[in-house]
Amino acid sequence: MEKFPAVFIDRDGTMNIEAGYIDHPDNFNLYPFVPQAVRLLNTHGFLVIVLTNQAGVGRGYFGEDNVETLHSKMRSELSKGGARLDAVYYCPHHTSSKDPKYAVDCNCRKPRTGMIDKALSELPVDTGRMFIIGDKMSDIKLGRKTGCRTYLVKTGYGLREAEKNPGGADVITDNILSAVLDILKISQQAQPDQTPA
Ligand SMILES: [Mg+2]
Repeated sequence: MEKFPAVFIDRDGTMNIEAGYIDHPDNFNLYPFVPQAVRLLNTHGFLVIVLTNQAGVGRGYFGEDNVETLHSKMRSELSKGGARLDAVYYCPHHTSSKDPKYAVDCNCRKPRTGMIDKALSELPVDTGRMFIIGDKMSDIKLGRKTGCRTYLVKTGYGLREAEKNPGGADVITDNILSAVLDILKISQQAQPDQTPA
């Protein structure tokens, strides 16, 4: 089966403006450059996979239906910009949950690897060409564990994270779009044989 390079992208603070625990679609708003960033990955043959910790479910702040509603809005806003996601995975767990269904010391809460493990089992990912973009060190740690090239963006919590961890990621960059442009540049350099003469 043909395999494709993949970019794993954090949601809050990377795709959408950081707004704490988001319990209503009105508070879920993509950064304006996000559709372009995702579209560039789509047109260059990358799988685009969003990974998000949603402990607000486990903590009882909102239900999984709310998470799904936000993800519908995310896909529809991207679609208006000609962009699409290949998959979205979220972790609803938190060990403090009062609901035994969610009070799980799970393997999917970032920086644990469960969501990427699942993506690799479900999608044709070329594991030698994986990238992760996020605004927290938990994203970067996950990327390190799974062999991704890591991008810490300065949106969301990223500026604070970058100040605390100046050498924390392979690349510290302004936002998801600048990260994607670097990924495309690196990927072209890595495959000079595909460049037309
Ligand atoms: Mg984030």
